[in-house]
Amino acid sequence: MTITDNLRIIGERIRAAEQRYGREPNSVKLIAVSKHQPLTAIQEALQTQQYAFGENYVQEMQEKALALALNDSCIEWHFIGPIQTNKTRPIAELATWVHSIDRLKVAQRLNDQRPSQLAPLQVCIQVNLSEEASKSGVAFYEAEALAHQIKTLDRLQLRGLMAIPAPSKDVAVQRQVFRRLRELKDQLNQQSFKLDTLSMGMTDDMEAAIAEGATQVRIGTAIFGARNY
Ligand SMILES: *Cc1c(COP(=O)(O)O)cnc(C)c1O
Repeated sequence: MTITDNLRIIGERIRAAEQRYGREPNSVKLIAVSKHQPLTAIQEALQTQQYAFGENYVQEMQEKALALALNDSCIEWHFIGPIQTNKTRPIAELATWVHSIDRLKVAQRLNDQRPSQLAPLQVCIQVNLSEEASKSGVAFYEAEALAHQIKTLDRLQLRGLMAIPAPSKDVAVQRQVFRRLRELKDQLNQQSFKLDTLSMGMTDDMEAAIAEGATQVRIGTAIFGARNY
């Protein structure tokens, strides 16, 4: 199977899940997670009009953006990894989206460093839905306070919430966890927020995420195969 084949199959799976779960056609966007994949893999995906790529490591995103900038300025970089405060500048300068904001300090720095000639950075708050499994993400009950703080930063546009649940093979469990993120978004929207994004679903839980309202799925392995560490 080539990357081109995999992208076609994932596209078909997303469209089928939209239909099965009563979602609007084309309401789920595919982010191709290219971390630890070579430039050639991204170039093959670009041939199929896949333009949104997810990266976890600042330096890797910088190197790839630099290498591809001349020919492929249509690329949309999504930063999805943990963010160190001292590495925000390249993210502010290169990314269109940041999915992994989990504290005010990082949000403030991204806001201050976002170049004025670029559109505001589109951001999601990463919420830690399964505390024991991961250290990343703001605690569920702290998300609302962070959302209010981000709202005051005019170079950031708060679009929604992101989560990486603990892996489970049980689709009912997968759905239950994603549902909590959707409910949190709905709860914030009942206040003054206008969130339109749920970034949730990876290779092994994509359908469950779409069933529960994902608007962006972040897929690596099913497109590019195993990563080379
Ligand atoms: C690696 C990664 C993905 C992609 O995971 P796959 O299981 O390979 O699809 C998605 N989101 C984040 C935040 C990741 O780090």
